Amino acid sequence: MPELEGQVAVVTGASRGIGRAVALALAAAGAAVAVNYLAHSEAAAEVVESIHAAGGTAAAYQADVSDPEQVQAFIAAVEGRFGKIDILVNNAGHAESGLLQVIPIASWRRMMAVHLDGAFYCTRLCLPGMIRRRYGRIVNISSIWGITGAANEVAYSAAKAGLVGFTRALALEVAPSGITVNAVAPGVIDTDMNRGYSSQEIEDLRGLIPAGRFGTAEEIAAVVRFLCSPQASYITGQVLSPNGGLVTT
Ligand code: NAP
Repeated sequence: MPELEGQVAVVTGASRGIGRAVALALAAAGAAVAVNYLAHSEAAAEVVESIHAAGGTAAAYQADVSDPEQVQAFIAAVEGRFGKIDILVNNAGHAESGLLQVIPIASWRRMMAVHLDGAFYCTRLCLPGMIRRRYGRIVNISSIWGITGAANEVAYSAAKAGLVGFTRALALEVAPSGITVNAVAPGVIDTDMNRGYSSQEIEDLRGLIPAGRFGTAEEIAAVVRFLCSPQASYITGQVLSPNGGLVTT
């Protein structure tokens, strides 16, 4: 029997990139997957179709994770359809760079709203059912920049570092209820998020990575799948960083 058979997973930002790969990996492991997205409905539909084609179960849900009312409707719809939520992957996110002195206040607020508030809204609504059933797996997608900091990306680094603190503190709160909370802090991954780099910037960045290449979304999904598996039952409050050796902690 697949290891996540009978479980229900919510993956935010699952229409593209890392979230898409996570949705496919959890579905391949047997979970029914709620595929959340912000704007790209066709991409989300393609993820659902791919899961169905492989014999799995999935449905797409549009919701901006930064909006508490949209998140409430989203989580209620998932619980209404699938009856419960066992796994939550807080992955939705965007990148925006700029020196601290010049980034608009609205950009700072949006960064915190999507990455931090979004994880808070989704998690607090999934927790009551997890606590009742005394089982849950929560994985927050942070970033190596949340560990080391990145110049020109103070807002992004602060939001991702915030997710690490959120992970560590929540893990302590809910461990007695049989729920694990971990963070994955990827290095540089080949997704749309990094399409804005020039070819020279890509070469420069690649030169800094001991593995000599960007990671793939599937390599991150494999780590998330492991953290959601029965084998990871004693791992909580941890940050795993698949990054090709760019950062060692
Ligand atoms: P991506 O390819 O740009 O995909 C972003 C996903 O998030 C899309 O599915 C998008 O939906 C969704 N999304 C964005 N804002 C949202 C919102 N407010 N509400 C709901 N969904 C939203 O990005 P990615 O590279 O896969 O990144 C995924 C996560 O990994 C992010 O949290 C990112 O910070 C983190 N990360 C990425 C890297 C990297 O190098 N790529 C490294 C470390 C950490 P639509 O398709 O509808 O727009």
